[in-house]
Amino acid sequence: MAENRLPYPSKYTLDEPDAYHSTCLAIQRAVSPRSQVFYPGSPSYANNTHHWTPSSSQTSACSVEPGTVHDVSKILKILGTTSTPFAIKSGGHATNQGFSSTPGVQIALSRFNAVMYDQASNTATIGAGLTWDTVYSKLEPFGVTVVGGRVVGVGVGGVTLGGGKHIAHFSNSFPGRTYSSHQVMDTIVAFELVLPDGEITTVTAESNPELSFALKGGYNNFGIVTNFVFNTFSLGPVWGGLLTYAGANFDLIVPAVADFQASNTDVDATIVAAFTCDYDSTPVFNVGAFYNGSTPPPGLFDKFFAIPRTSEDVKTRTYPELISVTSGPYSVNLLRGAMHTVSLSHLSVGVISQVLKQTNLWPDESSDSIARGDMKLAAAAITATAQSEGQELADLPLYSNYALGDVPLHRLYLANLPRLRSIKMKYDPLDVMALRGVSVSSGS
Ligand SMILES: Cc1cc2nc3c(=O)[nH]c(=O)nc-3n(C[C@H](O)[C@H](O)[C@H](O)COP(=O)(O)OP(=O)(O)OC[C@H]3O[C@@H](n4cnc5c(N)ncnc54)[C@H](O)[C@@H]3O)c2cc1C
Repeated sequence: MAENRLPYPSKYTLDEPDAYHSTCLAIQRAVSPRSQVFYPGSPSYANNTHHWTPSSSQTSACSVEPGTVHDVSKILKILGTTSTPFAIKSGGHATNQGFSSTPGVQIALSRFNAVMYDQASNTATIGAGLTWDTVYSKLEPFGVTVVGGRVVGVGVGGVTLGGGKHIAHFSNSFPGRTYSSHQVMDTIVAFELVLPDGEITTVTAESNPELSFALKGGYNNFGIVTNFVFNTFSLGPVWGGLLTYAGANFDLIVPAVADFQASNTDVDATIVAAFTCDYDSTPVFNVGAFYNGSTPPPGLFDKFFAIPRTSEDVKTRTYPELISVTSGPYSVNLLRGAMHTVSLSHLSVGVISQVLKQTNLWPDESSDSIARGDMKLAAAAITATAQSEGQELADLPLYSNYALGDVPLHRLYLANLPRLRSIKMKYDPLDVMALRGVSVSSGS
């Protein structure tokens, strides 16, 4: 694991499994009956340590499901005073081991699972252990939704604290488009936060501008968020679904995608395009089409219907149903998995074709480091193609929610890194949060 993202400081010497077990017992004694500690062998432990890909998981001494914010506070105090490594898990979709997994104490936020809609303020208070698909389903009867992830199972905690940039159906943020609240972090009203010293606080832009800034992309560096308050917006039936194209038609679908991204000016229309594999490992191209309305304007998506498809499920439906249908390609049971990212100013046929050339799978743990090395080479090749077409990419940050674990911090946070570090020094002077994954306290 890269030093700059997982800096367990040398002052933390508690690395004995027996010592971790003692911490588990201390937590068990301290928490209220609303919270529970589980050990290897129990189904709840298995659930709490489970990730989207098993390659992100680790064997923990125990897992704990806190049921109240006060118990989170007690747990964090115990972890800090005993210097026990820990991890915080929401939806478990991090693909870097150590980000939400640990050999120490696994904290699973699954009991923070309430959604409370307040019509008067147009906001929803949402538990940090929920997944977005559940949130959309719970809000749907009220005719509202929030800006969030697009795939079943992805957690509210990680997406939001990683910034939730760019990748949401309502985040059409290309130049000249007009949505005012297009990224998850732009729609947050408040965080219920347990600070590294155990203090419970509510953070808003007015009450604490520093922490409000830092939490919008700063992950778990500043404590544990137990609930978020988001702005909501009205949503009725939407149109969309999944179109799948076979390899023989890749040379038709690639220009169609590039053309849509270059020419579409309708902020209600988005596509999510992906090279993936079908269930029998055949390479396929998926287009998740989405329109925020019951019918798209005539012609908007015609280019995708003019190309032969191997399957198609597109119609007017509820938003939760659309999420379920378009999640299919990402719901596979991978054994190993990682993500990496390239920031582009726009898509082109050349760049998408380069992505296709770089798409690959790997079979087992022994190939992990080779695969991750290949991903970096692939990112470099895609970047080089874009730059050769004249794209200026040097000042674009990488999206931390997709970046490999050893990407230098300045590539994620750019000029914000010194500010994040000074906020971290103020609220976590003892560096308690360095006992878990990603840290802005050190590294480059
Ligand atoms: C199949 C798939 C689909 C995806 N789709 C999207 C998408 O549509 N849009 C998008 O923007 N991204 C998407 N991503 C990327 C996703 O944003 C990141 O993987 C994200 O970190 C996952 O959040 P999680 O809660 O599921 O993960 P977790 O592994 O539970 O958490 C990720 C990180 O956040 C920290 N964290 C989580 N909750 C809290 C909390 N309450 N307090 C403090 N720290 C916390 C964890 O400790 C960990 O470091 C996708 C990833 C996958 C694998």
